[in-house]
Amino acid sequence: MSCSKRPSAPSPADSVLRVSGIVYLVGAGPGDPGLMTRRSLELIAAADAILFDRLIPQGALEGARPDAELRYVGKEPGAAALSQEETNELLVELGRAGKRVVRLKGGDPFVFGRGGEEAEALAAAGVPFEVVPGVTAGVAAPAYAGIPVTHRDAASAVAFVTGHEDPAKPDTALDWDALARFPGTLVFYMGVKNLPLIAERLTAAGRDHQEPVAVVERGTHAGQRTVVDTLSGIAARVESEGVRPPSITVVGRVAELRETIAWLETRPLHGEVVAVTRARSQASGLAARLRELGAEVVETPAIRIEPRPVEGELRAAIERIEGYALVCLTSPNGVRLLFDALATVGRDARALAGATVAAIGPGTAAELAERGIAADVVPERFVAEALVEALAPVEVQGRRVLVARAAEARSVLPDSLRERGAEVNDVALYDTVAEPLGDAARAALERATYVTFTSSSTVRFLLGSGVRPPESARVVSIGPVTTSTAEENGLAVHVEADRHDVEGLVDALTADARGRRVPA
Ligand code: SAH
Repeated sequence: MSCSKRPSAPSPADSVLRVSGIVYLVGAGPGDPGLMTRRSLELIAAADAILFDRLIPQGALEGARPDAELRYVGKEPGAAALSQEETNELLVELGRAGKRVVRLKGGDPFVFGRGGEEAEALAAAGVPFEVVPGVTAGVAAPAYAGIPVTHRDAASAVAFVTGHEDPAKPDTALDWDALARFPGTLVFYMGVKNLPLIAERLTAAGRDHQEPVAVVERGTHAGQRTVVDTLSGIAARVESEGVRPPSITVVGRVAELRETIAWLETRPLHGEVVAVTRARSQASGLAARLRELGAEVVETPAIRIEPRPVEGELRAAIERIEGYALVCLTSPNGVRLLFDALATVGRDARALAGATVAAIGPGTAAELAERGIAADVVPERFVAEALVEALAPVEVQGRRVLVARAAEARSVLPDSLRERGAEVNDVALYDTVAEPLGDAARAALERATYVTFTSSSTVRFLLGSGVRPPESARVVSIGPVTTSTAEENGLAVHVEADRHDVEGLVDALTADARGRRVPA
């Protein structure tokens, strides 16, 4: 938005026309980015200023405008942040300055989020505002733990209670007798520290000490953890298991239902932190698959794909691509960049009409299929040697062959084709270069329980930058070539995929994780 459209000091004459600001009190949900509402994402994308708390989902601000003012206003102990009054004042001030402000909070803004106070301050100041509800942790964390807060047979009511109040204080606002008598589920927010007192007050007031209680830590996050015990046993259990905030405490028979309907924590990779070292542009398929299986995925790209300019030998090959009887592609990136190069010279898929097209594996073949080319040759195993074998029936003697791929690729394929009498043109579409790991990625790698390598270059570049997987992590390799590169560089490989593609790697990793689980 240009500043000229939004005068900051309106003259009396144009005060009617002044673009007035608005403040959105927005809930960002409990942590899983997928639980952010469509409205919240729209408003984040349009905001001039975003004031956010600590408990917002990872990546929640990714869609913000590059010029948006982002400001942390949480109340984390020790951090330089604003008091509630200062936050209220800031919201009023920004709203009055004509800004479109998003006040982003964890969960729902009106459930223990002090959104009510902010709305009151805005109303008093005459600043327009809108409230965007969010998925509240008190419902979502239990849901992700397999606990419905109400149930036809187990709870006809639910109460949301703050656990923040010191129950020992005589002036506590909570009526413990009423809570003990409450005919349904009690959901405590902010209650970890006070859990011993909460349990004591409830039982003292007559709540059944055998009632099941679940505490859900980091609900809806990949690292979610749930502990269940009785009302009299839960405090000691939480202490011994080291459960920490943010956690939700659910008191009620519904907590038992988890035994049959827990779904997140039973996923095969739940609790695993898997590092993906492949280029960021390629990581999404592998990352999505691992997440579906319950893993927390950390992207620690060791490499980046750098396309070569379409000139010189590459340009000559692309311009005369009809002259090749066989075109070999050895990676999805290669396909993408070959088509980009074709487009650069004003060509498209029809340029490959006369050639036999070979793909090293299904990923590469799928990338071709997206562009209307059904690969003629796809080997069973996805290494250069297998492609060499699969190409055996293809007549290459005296024919021109184009191998279009990464600059540093192995020479097995062109060598074997040359031996068979082909005139091979091996052109580089891209270079694989090191991607330096930032501090956050290094720290994330340190937490990894599995580190995956999908090519020799990911191994070489990661180790080459002086970074090593943590000693405790299991190292997973996509196939024998990657494994030997790792071993040559002094890195032991614990798991090697039988099928040398992403699915194969995920299968091998999952089987390994399953084998290592201690039966409950
Ligand atoms: N407005 C928020 C609650 C803010 S109070 C909402 O509607 O969810 C902060 C408390 O919320 C934490 O102390 C914890 O009890 C709970 N909480 C927030 N996120 C949580 C999460 N991901 N898992 C478990 N509890 C969470």
